[in-house]
Amino acid sequence: MKRILLGVSLMSAFVLSGCQTSSAADQDTRSSVVAVTSESQLIEEAANEASSTVQRSTEADQEVPEKQEAYRYRINAATSVVEPIDAESDSKVALLTFDDSPDQHAVEIAEKLKSINAPAIFFVNGMYIESDEGKEKLKQLYDMGFDIGNHTQTHPNLSTISPEEQREEILKTNELIYEVTGEKPHFFRAPHGVTTEMSDTVMAEEGMVSMNWTYGYDWEADYQTSEALTDIMLNTEYLNDGANLLMHDRKWTNEAVLSIAEGLIDKGYTLADPKLIELPEREE
Ligand SMILES: [Zn+2]
Repeated sequence: MKRILLGVSLMSAFVLSGCQTSSAADQDTRSSVVAVTSESQLIEEAANEASSTVQRSTEADQEVPEKQEAYRYRINAATSVVEPIDAESDSKVALLTFDDSPDQHAVEIAEKLKSINAPAIFFVNGMYIESDEGKEKLKQLYDMGFDIGNHTQTHPNLSTISPEEQREEILKTNELIYEVTGEKPHFFRAPHGVTTEMSDTVMAEEGMVSMNWTYGYDWEADYQTSEALTDIMLNTEYLNDGANLLMHDRKWTNEAVLSIAEGLIDKGYTLADPKLIELPEREE
């Protein structure tokens, strides 16, 4: 028997401000405090269920059917925290996400992460994958095994455009991604973290999961060097179990990404595999 302490420690995530476009003065300063939860469970678990016994069919018939999907995590809809679905899943995880991709640096970021087998989600803007060059970058990200998310076509604040335009912003990017990868995105991140009734509707129709993030800094002037960004990403008080890290396709982020990923691992975090995050059922 081994003892595993699954501590969902005092979680105090803070939604910091939103993504910025490279040209943009449209900095979003939305911020909100998310719910504080405190929970600690001591779980005893059989170390190995190694069993060489051949089960009789009568026993097999009585077994509880296995879950159809091997999902281990779900995104908390209110906080964007990556939460374990069951007690067997490690709660000390961090999810890496890169918005406004693939612009100038996403492929290099992906190659660095790939070199240490670190998973991540690249949230793509459709405007970057209309050209052949952009499509090739997206294909490289996908072929390296990274998850491709939808970050809208042109990065608008969805609350400022019509419902029809909102729908088009999301669906057009889904289609462009599908053309290149043969797979429609499962995850959506609204520009500036601003979701709407219509974006929620499209999520339901398309079988997608929307997420914001728990912290990020690479759009702030104080953190636009590799050293400063690495330091804050690893030492912020918002780094907690299930942290959902927002980064961007930026030069200093590219320079810092390996130190950030390795630093998280050194701190005992497992980098969350997006493929283990629960999705609604949908027709593929
Ligand atoms: Zn963005």
